[in-house]
Amino acid sequence: MQVEALPSAVRDVVQSHRCGGKRIGLVPTMGALHVGHVSLMDAARRDCDFVVATIFVNPLQFGPNEDFDRYPCSLEHDLQKCEAAGVDLVFTPETSQMYAADAESEVRLTGLTRKLEGRHRPGHFDGVTTVVAKLFNIAVPDLAYFGQKDYQQQLIIRQMVSDLDWGLEIVTCPIVREDDGLAMSSRNRYLSPADRERSLILFRALSRAQELAQTASETPDSIAQQLQQLISGTDGVDPDYAVVVDCETLEPLPQRPERAVALIAARVGKTRLIDNQILRFR
Ligand code: AMP
Repeated sequence: MQVEALPSAVRDVVQSHRCGGKRIGLVPTMGALHVGHVSLMDAARRDCDFVVATIFVNPLQFGPNEDFDRYPCSLEHDLQKCEAAGVDLVFTPETSQMYAADAESEVRLTGLTRKLEGRHRPGHFDGVTTVVAKLFNIAVPDLAYFGQKDYQQQLIIRQMVSDLDWGLEIVTCPIVREDDGLAMSSRNRYLSPADRERSLILFRALSRAQELAQTASETPDSIAQQLQQLISGTDGVDPDYAVVVDCETLEPLPQRPERAVALIAARVGKTRLIDNQILRFR
């Protein structure tokens, strides 16, 4: 496995493989890798001939009061995980190599990015689309892998790829959960034992939402209200939002659809967690 810190080195290596007819897969991450990240690498390994993973804690996507300064970092450990997953090349740039001091450009979407996570984390998605656009330009993948865990993010990336005519395929991989249902996240390590227990309400509430969706009298709105109540009724858990919305537009749904997505963001102690589930109504 090769490890490169320079964008130009990644570009050259990948280009030589592309010229050899290989299908290139890209897995962007911020490191502190867990089984969820590895599932993206496994999917890329299955579909592609040459797999590039990136490890970069992107300062642009953190707000001023967020956890950029204490975001977990474990490069040695992460590289071992990449190697075990069969990654061919890991890109580990420094911030100065990604963002020149005199850079003026950013990539900003105007619709999907303003909802839900975007409303609670202003500027977050502008940072995400800017770094992902740069990673696409550096690695020029045929396929790029994202997790359903960040549901709104993968929708936004799909929109960006379509808007900007990138000829690449976005693959969204299922959420990997702990045995008790908590969605794996690099931020779970911040949870105290008591908060770790409380955080289970997110998965329980989503599971309850799926049960409710099977009941003919329940609507997306009535389910969302119950989601909200379940979460805010748990001591020490403070929801930012709990909604049931259209899977593509994230807009409210007046009637019972065939499917919808339930999305939750909540603070558990000092840690902000997100989770989601596709609901099937019949
Ligand atoms: P991050 O390092 O948190 O930016 O995540 C990198 C990629 O891994 C994103 O596409 C995430 O959606 C994905 N990811 C994070 N956690 C999970 C999980 N539990 N299951 C599946 N994918 C995940």
